[in-house]
Amino acid sequence: AKHNGRNGFRFFTQNIAETLRQRQLIEKGLRLALSEHHFFLVYMPIFDCKDNTIAAVEVLLRCESPELQGIGPDQFIPVAEASGLIKDIDLWVINNALQALLILQTEHKFKGKFCINISGVELHNEAFPAKVKHLLSYYNIAPESVELEVTETAFVAGDVTCVETLKALNKLGISLALDDFGTGFTAFSQLIHYPADCLKIDRSFVNDLFSEREARNKMVMVIQNLAKLYGLRVIAEGVENEAQLAYLKENGCDWAQGYYLSRPLSWEDLLVLLNS
Ligand code: C2E
Ligand code: CA
Ligand code: CA
Ligand code: CA
Repeated sequence: AKHNGRNGFRFFTQNIAETLRQRQLIEKGLRLALSEHHFFLVYMPIFDCKDNTIAAVEVLLRCESPELQGIGPDQFIPVAEASGLIKDIDLWVINNALQALLILQTEHKFKGKFCINISGVELHNEAFPAKVKHLLSYYNIAPESVELEVTETAFVAGDVTCVETLKALNKLGISLALDDFGTGFTAFSQLIHYPADCLKIDRSFVNDLFSEREARNKMVMVIQNLAKLYGLRVIAEGVENEAQLAYLKENGCDWAQGYYLSRPLSWEDLLVLLNS
């Protein structure tokens, strides 16, 4: 193959410039979203594998800033983390999620958990547990009805601050889930140092069930056995067909979510589902 170093280089720098412009645009959109109320939440039901009832609802963030047309949290959360905006955004989400949960509990007899994603950045934020505590008591929400999800990749082995923050959150009485479990490098032996209640099997592993990727396929089984050993609840995410759901149920998965069961719903559609 021909190798054109110079053109390759120009292409590379163009890409960096393009990426930087994109990031600046996203950051501008996020600032606008905070001040102009462009954020909103969608709600993804999580089902109990034993009786197919709704055990929980995962809260997912959306943004309708003109600058963020077609850009989802997978793209804008990393920019929020890099720019420091994430702390305000996480608090916005928790605030609005608890407000929504209060309505579901008082007006719609909702008994399930609300699962709220927080950035790994909060594990290094010593002020974070006190803020969560304040919001729980402000809305008079029982901590048992709230689960915070942190991605496994946020954990740094041997990091004392992380463990301290997790312990402080755990002391509030809320539960903690390790999100995207299996994708990070947390040594399984580290697990006992974290006061976690739940492992969320990453979507990619559920996806590989019944595919040719044998080795990754076995991850679902590995995680379920690990959870059993440590007495942790297991949530499988990304369930997209009947065969995957059947496999998960047979292998002792506690809760499941995914497009096969329900897409993320608007507030109005969530109410319809809960009242049906
Ligand atoms: P996550 O926490 O792993 O969330 C699951 C993502 O997978 C969601 O995408 C959800 O819509 C999608 N998903 C669930 N089931 C299926 C399925 O069966 N098939 C497919 N193809 N996708 C499925 P979403 O809403 O785009 O969120 C992406 C990520 O952004 C989340 O990953 C989470 O890390 C982050 N995020 C979302 N909302 C928040 C938030 O409020 N705060 C923070 N800090 N991060 C958030
Ligand atoms: Ca999550
Ligand atoms: Ca996940
Ligand atoms: Ca994820």
